[in-house]
Amino acid sequence: MTDDPEATLEQWKESMQAEHAEAIENPDPEADHRIEGVAQVSYRVTFDYDPEADSLERADREQVEELADPELLSCACASAG
Ligand SMILES: [Zn+2]
Repeated sequence: MTDDPEATLEQWKESMQAEHAEAIENPDPEADHRIEGVAQVSYRVTFDYDPEADSLERADREQVEELADPELLSCACASAG
């Protein structure tokens, strides 16, 4: 049944996902897809002991690697929902 709203929604989602995947593979400057990924950078953090508070306080941080491009990209344009 093609007029099943659930199935129609699933079909719509699949066609949108295919469109986003295509946009990620072949970026089109004319299309307003917004490609996103999440990247992490590691820091080395040093602590100083604070005897008054009897606790460790963060003293310094040093970036230990460069920000790299994320492996997983997704499309976060308005139509992605
Ligand atoms: Zn998109």
